[in-house]
Amino acid sequence: MGSQNEINVNVLVIGAGPTGLGAAKRLQQLVRIASIATRLTPATDVYQDAPSWLIVDSNETPGGLASTDVTPEGFLYDVGGHVIFSHYKYFDDCIAQALPNETDWYTHQRISYVRCKNLWVPYPFQNNISMLPKEEQVKCMDGMIDAALEARVSNTKPQNFDEWIVRMMGTGIADLFMRPYNYKVWAVPTTKMQCAWLGERVAAPDLKSVTKNVILQKTAGNWGPNATFRFPAVGGTGAIWIAVANTLAKKNTRFGERGAVKKVDADNKRVMLQDGTTIKYDKLISTMAVDSLVEHMGDQELVNLSKGLFYSSTHVIGVGIRGERPERIGDKCWLYFPEDDCPFYRATIFSNYSPNNQPAASKKLATTQLADGSQPSDTSAREGPYWSIMLEVSESSMKPVDEKNMLRDCIQGLINTEMLRPADEIVSTYHRRFDHGYPTPSLEREGVLKQLLPKLQAKDIFSRGRFGSWRYEVGNQDHSFMLGVEAADRIVNGAVELTLNYPDFVNGRMNDERRLIDGGQIFQNKGTDKADAAGDARPVDIAANRAGTATNGVGGDEQPFRTNGA
Ligand SMILES: Cc1cc2nc3c(=O)[nH]c(=O)nc-3n(C[C@H](O)[C@H](O)[C@H](O)COP(=O)(O)OP(=O)(O)OC[C@H]3O[C@@H](n4cnc5c(N)ncnc54)[C@H](O)[C@@H]3O)c2cc1C
Repeated sequence: MGSQNEINVNVLVIGAGPTGLGAAKRLQQLVRIASIATRLTPATDVYQDAPSWLIVDSNETPGGLASTDVTPEGFLYDVGGHVIFSHYKYFDDCIAQALPNETDWYTHQRISYVRCKNLWVPYPFQNNISMLPKEEQVKCMDGMIDAALEARVSNTKPQNFDEWIVRMMGTGIADLFMRPYNYKVWAVPTTKMQCAWLGERVAAPDLKSVTKNVILQKTAGNWGPNATFRFPAVGGTGAIWIAVANTLAKKNTRFGERGAVKKVDADNKRVMLQDGTTIKYDKLISTMAVDSLVEHMGDQELVNLSKGLFYSSTHVIGVGIRGERPERIGDKCWLYFPEDDCPFYRATIFSNYSPNNQPAASKKLATTQLADGSQPSDTSAREGPYWSIMLEVSESSMKPVDEKNMLRDCIQGLINTEMLRPADEIVSTYHRRFDHGYPTPSLEREGVLKQLLPKLQAKDIFSRGRFGSWRYEVGNQDHSFMLGVEAADRIVNGAVELTLNYPDFVNGRMNDERRLIDGGQIFQNKGTDKADAAGDARPVDIAANRAGTATNGVGGDEQPFRTNGA
């Protein structure tokens, strides 16, 4: 390390969200096993010794989009519904190390519904159309039969997400659920989205079981191998990432104002921080949004290129309510809203995830308004109990929103969908806008990424993460964390980055080769910066050996139609 205002490191990590923390975690582990690493023959561009490293973030609290806010009244809200779907043992190891006790977690059954025609249709929607009015059942079945017939003769791939939906589920379910719901989530019409992110193969709809359910008037219950999920007992999703960050050596972290990046000078491999400090690096892992990164670099060519990427913003709205959790809410976890009687696409009953997500019943809070907007007759501070709902609303240039009235409109939407009664006492509200919420799998995305990421990598900048590498299909917490881990392995050991380059592959299996405890298995396989970033690298041997286990990348039963992803 240099003078007080100049720091020298081999690897600088920008951002302490899941991706940056994954990179830092792996770098820390690789330093520990450096003695093993030096025994191997490194490729020409990788380190022979353990690299020095530093992670910076402009936020004092690590976690990025996987953080948790607390309202002044004591209600917690994540950045929308965050549930862990892990595809990686290494990720599991790191989480288990950070929050090791049974009491650190609550385990829940996923209980999820779609609000449709004033009814709660259990998820997955297409298995439960027997719940719908007869007229809608006919439309759905009609479309599914057409889709099944089409699937028998078609030998072309769908050209966009809309075609994918129609081929998978038919026009009935498309019109009733998939099109309106996905527009509400993505803030982009389904015709303007590609479908490669859903995996290569288009599976024909399972018409037989759908028909059986309709005739027998049955509903199909919970789905997939992971019908349960764990949630932190205290501190929301953000607590996971604070705990992971706490396993890093403090001397290698720089969070808060003194970690804010002002400028990236790629030619001289220097990062300037807001507080005047300069960091000289050999390799940079940047997890800030790539459009923001190229702005910080002041590279007009890359800025122009990045303009081809599209994203939507996410508004998170929280409502804290006095009273026992009503019967109509029960133990529901998250709910989907495709219709236009409410601005939100998803609601999470956040108080169901942990009793610590809301204030204790003994806390005295005043009612600020009734759900119908009227003033309460009694405004004195009184005891609970309390429960809470968290809502998500998307926004983009293709779907503008009325931000000023959003909170009011959402509360009205809760009444319209029978989540709240007009006289319910609201004791706390929350509204925060996150500019970069969803990285859109637009038709143009791959064309941009296949130029942008290699160009950055040629400058020794590894842009990774939900918005660092902009691939939604590998944009959840587990993926993001591993994008960071694998970038570190790429830099130190020359390993191919599977998550970045082979989303279908990693999504179709449990990736268990890397372990935190067993040591840092050294991946030294044939990756080159250019091929890697362009997605042209060959899979690592170990992956190729196991390729038979890969599925179509839609996430199996776990996330059949991506509606419960994030
Ligand atoms: C609405 C919503 C719902 C989601 N639901 C789920 C879910 O159910 N399950 C799941 O697994 N995942 C979910 N996710 C995804 C999850 O939040 C992301 O996978 C994860 O947060 C991405 O991590 P990241 O590190 O790539 O980026 P981020 O979390 O965005 O972290 C980037 C970091 O870079 C820092 N940074 C940016 N600019 C600078 C600068 N100039 N200087 C210094 N630091 C900077 C930021 O402060 C931030 O901490 C959801 C996301 C959203 C938005």
